[in-house]
Amino acid sequence: MQHVKLARDRRKRKSRIKAAVFLLAILSIFIGIVLSVKDNAKTDPLAVSSDEVQYKPLNETQDTQTNSEFKDIQANENLTENSQSAEPDTANTEKSNSDEATSYDDDLQGKDDEVEQVNLDEKDEFADLPEDAKNAVNDLLDIADQAIRIKDQFSYTVVKGDTLKDVLEQSGLEDETSKTLIAAYPELKNLKAGQQFYWILDKDGELEYLNWLVSEKEERIYERTAEGKFKRQILQKKSVWKKEVLKGQIKGSFSSSLKAQGLNSKQIAQLGSALQWQISMKKLKQGDKFAVLVSREYLDNKLTGQGNVEAIHISSGGKSYYAIQSSNGRYYNRQGETLGKGFARYPMQRQARVSSPFNPARRHPVTGRIRPHNGVDFSMAIGTPVIAPADGVVEKVAYQANGAGRYIMIRHGREYQTVYMHLSRPLVRAGQSVKRGERIALSGNTGRSTGPHLHYEFHINGRPVNPLTVKLPGTSSQMSTAERKQFLIKAKEAERKLKI
Ligand SMILES: [Zn+2]
Repeated sequence: MQHVKLARDRRKRKSRIKAAVFLLAILSIFIGIVLSVKDNAKTDPLAVSSDEVQYKPLNETQDTQTNSEFKDIQANENLTENSQSAEPDTANTEKSNSDEATSYDDDLQGKDDEVEQVNLDEKDEFADLPEDAKNAVNDLLDIADQAIRIKDQFSYTVVKGDTLKDVLEQSGLEDETSKTLIAAYPELKNLKAGQQFYWILDKDGELEYLNWLVSEKEERIYERTAEGKFKRQILQKKSVWKKEVLKGQIKGSFSSSLKAQGLNSKQIAQLGSALQWQISMKKLKQGDKFAVLVSREYLDNKLTGQGNVEAIHISSGGKSYYAIQSSNGRYYNRQGETLGKGFARYPMQRQARVSSPFNPARRHPVTGRIRPHNGVDFSMAIGTPVIAPADGVVEKVAYQANGAGRYIMIRHGREYQTVYMHLSRPLVRAGQSVKRGERIALSGNTGRSTGPHLHYEFHINGRPVNPLTVKLPGTSSQMSTAERKQFLIKAKEAERKLKI
């Protein structure tokens, strides 16, 4: 753990420097704006990003729509229905374009011409300012520091069947990284349920540091060297692990209450992902009671920061909620069930042809620049029903005339989001809950699109991953008979220890 600390400290120092550079950059941008406004009102440096090179869309039919017609989603149906009812036209367009149906501007960073959005992010401990910050400059540095650190740090508990690729995909890393690591260190091929990973990405999104808690007695650390290889350290530990029950009441946010009980952010994250299919943390109220069974590492009577949350019991609104870890690494309720029904691979009833795959290195055909394709394009006739692949809440319904067209974003649990672009008509509103299999929209050809298709994205922790190969959450979560038997014994014991 000392190494983690060292890496963190180093990270912190680096982050501070970064934050200072960041502040300077903001200052110079500000000065730049002031000067350019003074100089020339025509160009706005913030509105146009450098790779936003204009090119002629291949299919301009939908560009006849004007912004004023998009004031109300319901009111503009006639437009999309026009394109739907124009059967012969649509059929022709499809014939000529469907093989290549795609878009090069469907990134979420684009400007929304119209948006209906709900904020589903829970208030968490990271948003809190450090209390002991002495002055305004220090405050600002600390906030920037935290924002940078949290953004690039990940932790994950292995569940049965996970490979290193599945672990690193939590941070959007490509398969290439796990291949490189496994080639050098084949031990990473055999992961066991319950093992923990903690890793840091550098500013380019590359893996910089990986900590693998192999067992209570051993930790392995892989650090990127200047040559782009990884060097390894193996730490045999002389620490002691203790099982403890922490009890508390919710005061402020759930995570700050857990923190007050001595859990660190890694363990809180572990709990957050364990509970996401059991109870919405937004439903928890002030004064709700909880008890956590945690196994933590001590070295010379001091907590090292390593630990594993084995079970939690929350009492809220007269009901008891449990999440108990099985030997397969997953969390279940007392009966051994998970509430999440898992994800379907495709967001439609019938499989469709892929007209453009997920590709982080895709090049724009006209500009030649790299424009990552953060999703997969399915060629489909306008008006094809799009269905929710899992239970969730609609986070956003929006429109981008020069990009994504009409699109929807859905949040599933805490870590997952899905995005649907170029729709002809959304069938849901922001804030609405949807069930797996429910119709959420009709596909279309809106925005910058070269033919009727659905652009589908899958995000984990805010990072796009390949929807066709990502390990889907909640699938194969059933326990074997032996596992289940063992689990039910463990559940009884946890229940006894976690009485509130
Ligand atoms: Zn696409």
